[in-house]
Amino acid sequence: MKVGFIGLGRMGKHMATNVVKAGFETYVNDLVPALVDQLVALGAKHCPTNQALAAEVDVAFTMLPNGAIVESVMCGPEGVLAACKPGTVIVDMSSVAPATTQKMAKVAAERGVKYIDAPVSGGTAGAEAGTLTIMVGADDETFARVEPVLQAIGKRIQHIGGVGMGDAMKIVNNMLLGANMASLAEALVLGAKCGLDPETMYEIISTSSGNSYALTAKMKKFIMADAFEPGFAMDVQYKDLTLAQEASRAMQVPIPMSNACMAVYEQARAAGLGGEDMSAVIKIWERLCGVEIRAPKEG
Ligand code: NAD
Repeated sequence: MKVGFIGLGRMGKHMATNVVKAGFETYVNDLVPALVDQLVALGAKHCPTNQALAAEVDVAFTMLPNGAIVESVMCGPEGVLAACKPGTVIVDMSSVAPATTQKMAKVAAERGVKYIDAPVSGGTAGAEAGTLTIMVGADDETFARVEPVLQAIGKRIQHIGGVGMGDAMKIVNNMLLGANMASLAEALVLGAKCGLDPETMYEIISTSSGNSYALTAKMKKFIMADAFEPGFAMDVQYKDLTLAQEASRAMQVPIPMSNACMAVYEQARAAGLGGEDMSAVIKIWERLCGVEIRAPKEG
């Protein structure tokens, strides 16, 4: 099976690397030549355009920043869908709205192409280790066709339902990540103002009922290390909350917690933190309250 991978950014470069290492004949493309070079050095083949890649492969994976870019890569000038052979499968692993995927699937079907969603969770660390959770929206037959490749990328591969259901699952998960991170940030700053030591807070919360992925993945590695290079960028978390808001309007489900959380990320982006890891949201409270949750400097 010839496999294609478009989008070799923070997540995609690791995911494509694991596909190459698993022995699949892999064709890659990205707008950034240096990212392509990294994969070519590992044995992948470079296609100069997304259309050239689409024409070459049996299954094409995409890991792109947002739904607008996915739509443009699929249907814009030089779009992938126009170049695919009938019978090709496209697996979009980006986090986008179910409606975007369902719209792309409809256009793809007119060309005899299968289009499914398989967004992921587990961050750049999970992408590198090949331990991502993958949420697949597909018919049974297409799921079975792509599962061997997904096994190279993730640990838990879950067939959630029909096309778009992987995206819906991902939106629900990332609402919680956004809220957990914002809650952790205000809680840690309150604790510090009360006189608690950050290390003590970590040790206790991580073995208590307040524990979360936000704490275990973000507190020591990003916040206490003062290392806010993403990771999972604030702007990307914000995009995921906008997807939750769109879904809440469409389904008429009130989401007051996520809306409050959205306002916090808006403040952080207005303060110029959008390109930093989402854990940098804590800087909003740190600056307001005059404390920092950092490990003591050595020496
Ligand atoms: P990123 O911006 O680091 O990577 C996106 C890549 O797509 C870039 O390298 C960019 O050059 C490339 N690209 C954009 N337009 C292109 C085009 N027309 N043709 C070819 N390549 C193109 O983003 P990321 O952090 O890797 O996130 C990608 C997706 O994964 C997003 O939808 C995000 O929500 C989701 N996600 C990210 C994380 C994370 O921790 N970063 C975790 C889970 C899911």
